[in-house]
Amino acid sequence: MKAAFYERNQAIRIGEAERGAPGAGEIEIEVAYCGICGTDVGIYHGKMDWRVTASQIMGHEMSGVVGSVGEGVTGFAAGDRVTVMPLDPCGECPTCRAGYDHICENLKFLGIDTPGAFQERWIVPAHTVRRLPEDLPLSRAALIEPLAVACHDVRLAELAPNDLAVVLGGGPIGTLIALVARQAGARVIVSEINPYREQHLEALGLEAVDPRAVDLPALVEESSEGAGADVVFEATGHPSAAEMMTRLPKARGLIVAVGIFAKPPEIDLFQFFWRELRLCGARVYENRDFDQAIELAASGDLPLDRLISDIYSLDELKKGLDLMSTGGDVMKILVQCGDRA
Ligand SMILES: [Zn+2]
Ligand SMILES: [Zn+2]
Repeated sequence: MKAAFYERNQAIRIGEAERGAPGAGEIEIEVAYCGICGTDVGIYHGKMDWRVTASQIMGHEMSGVVGSVGEGVTGFAAGDRVTVMPLDPCGECPTCRAGYDHICENLKFLGIDTPGAFQERWIVPAHTVRRLPEDLPLSRAALIEPLAVACHDVRLAELAPNDLAVVLGGGPIGTLIALVARQAGARVIVSEINPYREQHLEALGLEAVDPRAVDLPALVEESSEGAGADVVFEATGHPSAAEMMTRLPKARGLIVAVGIFAKPPEIDLFQFFWRELRLCGARVYENRDFDQAIELAASGDLPLDRLISDIYSLDELKKGLDLMSTGGDVMKILVQCGDRA
């Protein structure tokens, strides 16, 4: 069977992989679609070589159909339409025992620490497999994993109806946060510097501004009768957003840190003191966020299909990674990995 291997910085090899059989407690999935994540782009550029060993198969935002199940697996059978919650925690460390196994100290993230879904068939632990509702298209189902990230971020923000939420960054995750926050009843402003993404956000009915052209703190003040934003989501990982995020919340307002910073950014702690701001980290998702994402995707209430910019074949994975690296006119690219669609 065919697979895509990360070999080294910007080198992807399409080649043959041996088709294994699912062991005890494992499920083999015929992969339909797998989305290209920002993390995959980082791996592709060698930024995670400390964690990812070549040759590695990437990919964790997927949908597919069960091919076969290993010994002792119950509740799934060949032909079931599924997605994967790609977290494999140890279950034993203090963080797991405290009930936060999604940020387990020894967490294996499938597709980063183990082989991923950019291959025709993927074998995963059965506990990571989630069944899909019948009428949910497999292409849209490949967005469930990033949508679950947004569900987690918004849940931790405890948004109330009519709250003002500002999202810094309108890439796939920022856009999904904005859509889920709006669904929760919040008013949303998205800050984004890429004109294509700004237009895309507006086409989805979201208020999008370029913080270099618009005085964002003034706009937020104006939109909140002078109070400030109830919640600010930082979804860029960029130092300029770390600078901006402390200027936007209301007194006792909340900042949710979603973006990944390569280097510690400069942050104005004085604002935390002066306005009694709160800061909350948000990483991946918990089971209930994943369940909510599946429900939301199936409901059709969010314009998720419009986030799919293009669908490539597995042979075109490198082209997709290159396009996403430019930060150009693109949101989410799906890769069709097998015959299932
Ligand atoms: Zn991802
Ligand atoms: Zn653990």
